[in-house]
Amino acid sequence: MYTDLIKFIRTKYGNIDGFIPMHAPTFKELDRRYVLDAIDSTFVSSVGEYVNRFERDLQKFTGAARAVATVNGTAALQVALRLVGVKCQDEVITQPLTFVATANAISHLGAHPVFVDVDRDTMGLSPDALQIFLQENAQKRDGATCNRKTGNRIAAIVPMHTFGHPCRIEGIVEIAQEWSIPVVEDAAEAIGSFSGECHCGTLGDVGILSFNGNKTITCGGGGAILTNSEKLGDRAKHLTTTAKVPHAWEFEHDEIGYNFRMPNLNAALACAQLERLPDILHEKRELALAYKEFFEDKPWASFLDEPAGTQSNYWLCAIALEDADARDNFLKVVNDADVMTRPVWKLMNELSIFSGCQAGELENSIWLRERVVNLPSGVCSCE
Ligand SMILES: *Cc1c(COP(=O)(O)O)cnc(C)c1O
Repeated sequence: MYTDLIKFIRTKYGNIDGFIPMHAPTFKELDRRYVLDAIDSTFVSSVGEYVNRFERDLQKFTGAARAVATVNGTAALQVALRLVGVKCQDEVITQPLTFVATANAISHLGAHPVFVDVDRDTMGLSPDALQIFLQENAQKRDGATCNRKTGNRIAAIVPMHTFGHPCRIEGIVEIAQEWSIPVVEDAAEAIGSFSGECHCGTLGDVGILSFNGNKTITCGGGGAILTNSEKLGDRAKHLTTTAKVPHAWEFEHDEIGYNFRMPNLNAALACAQLERLPDILHEKRELALAYKEFFEDKPWASFLDEPAGTQSNYWLCAIALEDADARDNFLKVVNDADVMTRPVWKLMNELSIFSGCQAGELENSIWLRERVVNLPSGVCSCE
């Protein structure tokens, strides 16, 4: 049944017979040149010019006042949560439809994730569901917001920009301000995505990016913390570099920090990839538009287009099938043809590790979880 789709994808990827992956990175001469230059400089570790340059380039590209490069996105998220004051036993509201790293980072601080539903069109945290959850469960107390049921403080809200589609972040920030709760944007999947004029990850108090191997651009492993606050930017740099007080030779550390700085070797690759990002985004958009056109007259699936008023990086293209049976059949047929496709993640509250967490009404998350699959989305030479 899906032969025309398989043929369409194979044609896009140059008709190769072999396996077509979900999202393979691409490397060019520029990537090689910068990496070799970092090696030749002998500065391959936590100090080097490429790390500083990558942070400056990221600031310029995203418009964030400060960018701090980290070893990966999960570490960036853990530090971002700590920056806004998340502590042991606090609660952090996030969406159940996300990659496990979001909930892991919350748990690494000893805090508890609380799951609130997403919007169907953005697949990201729903401002409406958030407001309803807070009205039903939260209470302001001494300038903070607490969960009436557990008595714990609700210390942060973590929306995620699913597959690069921006969520309704402005609405979320507005509600968060009403309730005096900081917002940490998990923009791991959203480098090159904009909500209006603003880059994802720059609208909340702090945002994070990931440069893992499967993301839109990669430096092997890497991440970044974004913020418009100079104070939080300084603190992010301090915490991720062992909280060392600057001194030519003394080892003075004024709090328990982390060794989370991105190595210069990775930053060299990151600089090259960021330089190539506009071209990569262009090609990914072309592919997404071709998918969108392909699915226009297909009654068995709908293409999940970028939400109105946003610009998606189209990290992973996604479609919604009729129901869970149709999805399972689709996955079998297309994967058997050596074209990689996969379902969206299990919901976090469906994992045994997070099954005890509080959750609101999750109707849209369940709807999407049963129907959505990702299609091969790596850069191809689209004709
Ligand atoms: C990739 C990803 C992360 C984590 O990034 P790493 O660099 O792999 O640690 C966090 N959240 C989401 C939603 C992601 O997709």
